[in-house]
Amino acid sequence: MNFIILESTKKFSTIINFPKGKPIYAEPTDYEQKSDLKISDGIKESLLEELESQIQDKHLPITEDTYVTKIENENNVFLVW
Ligand SMILES: Cc1cc2nc3c(=O)[nH]c(=O)nc-3n(C[C@H](O)[C@H](O)[C@H](O)COP(=O)(O)OP(=O)(O)OC[C@H]3O[C@@H](n4cnc5c(N)ncnc54)[C@H](O)[C@@H]3O)c2cc1C
Repeated sequence: MNFIILESTKKFSTIINFPKGKPIYAEPTDYEQKSDLKISDGIKESLLEELESQIQDKHLPITEDTYVTKIENENNVFLVW
C-alpha cells in the first residue's frame, strides 16, 4: 500500500503529553491486542520507548507538523488538505 501518515504535531504526541511518570495500564489483562503495535504495563516513559522500538525498523512515512483540515472524495479520489 502506498501511503503517508499526516500528523498534526509529533508522533505519539498524546503519550508524550501524559504527565511525567504516569502509570500505564494495559487492561483488561485478558484482552487480546490485535494491533501490531503492542502496549504493556509500565509508565509513560517506558511506553514511549516500547512504541518507538516497535516502529524503528518499519520506516513509516510520517509527516509531522501537518494538520489535515479537509478530506474530499472526488470520483473516489480522496483529496486531502
Ligand atoms: C492523560 C491520559 C492518560 C491515559 N492513560 C491510558 C492508560 O494508562 N492506558 C491506556 O490504555 N490508555 C490510556 N489513555 C488513552 C490512550 O492515550 C488513547 O486511547 C490512545 O492514545 C488513542 O490512540 P489513537 O492513536 O487512537 O489516538 P491519539 O493517540 O489521540 O492519536 C491521534 C493523533 O492524530 C493527530 N491528529 C488529530 N487530528 C489531526 C488532524 N486533523 N490532522 C493531522 N493529525 C491529527 C493527533 O496529533 C494525534 O497524534 C490515556 C489518555 C490520556 C489523555
